[in-house]
Amino acid sequence: MKHVYGVVPSRRLGRSLGICPIPFKTCNYSCIYCQLGKTTRMTNSRYTFYSPEEILNEAENFIKKYGEKSFDVVTIVGEGEPTLYTPLDKIVEGIRKLTHKPLVLITNGSLLYNTSVRKEVSGFDIVMPTLDAWDEASFRKINRPFGKLSYKEVLKGIVDFSREFNGEIWLEVMLVKDYNDSIEALNFLKERIETISPERVYINVPVRPPAEKGVEIPEKSRIDYARKLLGATSIENLPVSNFLSSESDAIKAVIEIIKRHPMSKDDIKEFLLSEFNEQALEKFFSLASEKYNIEKCSYHGKVFYRYIQRREKR
Ligand code: SF4
Repeated sequence: MKHVYGVVPSRRLGRSLGICPIPFKTCNYSCIYCQLGKTTRMTNSRYTFYSPEEILNEAENFIKKYGEKSFDVVTIVGEGEPTLYTPLDKIVEGIRKLTHKPLVLITNGSLLYNTSVRKEVSGFDIVMPTLDAWDEASFRKINRPFGKLSYKEVLKGIVDFSREFNGEIWLEVMLVKDYNDSIEALNFLKERIETISPERVYINVPVRPPAEKGVEIPEKSRIDYARKLLGATSIENLPVSNFLSSESDAIKAVIEIIKRHPMSKDDIKEFLLSEFNEQALEKFFSLASEKYNIEKCSYHGKVFYRYIQRREKR
């Protein structure tokens, strides 16, 4: 499947059925910590990359095949930034006809200054924007936004949206050592977050291979400090088992997941043995290579596999 993937386990959301409405690594940020690697399609223009019917047909087929009991939430999440897709409200309307499960949007929040975007996302139950920076300089250093996107404008967009939105806002802060984990930075972040007044705040850290070298997880004591200061929950230890895929081919099934979520060697072993068999496991590790758009890398003493955009294989 091109747009529908998972089910992927999420500590915050339970079993999440993911829907991606944009092409791989299409984003208006190029965050230093991005687990999908560097942004290859940098844009700030919204576009109907695929028809709503194409996306909704895939969702309908999945739900018919596996049933509503196979997932807890439907998550619109990009292999990049999903609000670059328009019309998002048509996707929301279509999904509502297929399931009563909560509908969640994972976004960097950068386009919420745009009133059309705010209108299109108003029908979600939960919107999860990101806020890692506290001023223009830290925004450019951590998120490396497209052209003239300004921190002031982005923050104002999230604040304005939080005042009009009827659902819940769960804000995520990605903490990166020496970038935004100083006491001063955390105090500024606290001030900014108070203006948004989200229902929940989550702290994440770069546990998977980042786009740039030198991106590290802060000291545990600093994560704990930030968690208390921001009244946040820490999600650095996300569960990584119990993936489910609708693909019948083992390599395609892993690619479907790692396009959005790099997996460690152990995660892949567990997934392939539970969903496939020993042969599929051997086949995957003997074939996993750039030929299949799969890159092997090491991070914090673990071997990870992630998707790379070289020769597109469908
Ligand atoms: S982390 Fe999200 S917002 Fe940042 S570059 Fe990656 S996809 Fe874009």
